[in-house]
Amino acid sequence: MDKSSINSVYRILAKKIGEPKTELNYRNPYTFLVSVVLSAQATDKSVNNATKDLFKVVKTPKDMVALGERKLKGYIKTIGLYNSKAKNVINLSKILIKDHKSKIPSDFNDLTNLPGVGNKTASVYQNEILDIPRIAVDTHVYRVSNRVGLAKTKTADQTQEILEQITPKKWLKTAHHLLILHGRYTCKSQKPMCDQCVITKHCLYLKNEKN
Ligand code: SF4
Repeated sequence: MDKSSINSVYRILAKKIGEPKTELNYRNPYTFLVSVVLSAQATDKSVNNATKDLFKVVKTPKDMVALGERKLKGYIKTIGLYNSKAKNVINLSKILIKDHKSKIPSDFNDLTNLPGVGNKTASVYQNEILDIPRIAVDTHVYRVSNRVGLAKTKTADQTQEILEQITPKKWLKTAHHLLILHGRYTCKSQKPMCDQCVITKHCLYLKNEKN
């Protein structure tokens, strides 16, 4: 896809979606990181439902360690994979206390060294909290990018690399949200709603369907 079309894709999506924001609720950088860890293979809505009560009692790594794994599971048991997520959240909280004075590190490698924090979570954190323009690639971003023709890759990490190279500077900060929201509500996994899509003119998937 040429530069002008790439720019158009983001411009048109931004016009439709407006100023995109994370749909996860949080109180501070720590609770945001916990929410993102909990959101792996789960909906933001299910995470918000669980953290509504959890974040009334937990606001810091020390609060989380004091709560303990068993009680944490009680708060998050409606979220998929809650057993392993609870273990990760307790362990990452212990590491934050021990190695980072209870603060969240800003370095990408330090972030991905925390239990449960992979490239996607670290990128989402850097983008949302540190204002570092990263394009975290979840299932929606991966699907939309490869359908539209922004990327042609086999893995999420490759897609992130390509997107961060080709996305105009102006859209680097919001690209992740624009592509997620487009994937979540229009370019759905099973049945993309092409008849309601605003970027049909630029979509490779649609062009191939017609041929
Ligand atoms: S035209 Fe269809 S496949 Fe292409 S981006 Fe829009 S919804 Fe997705």
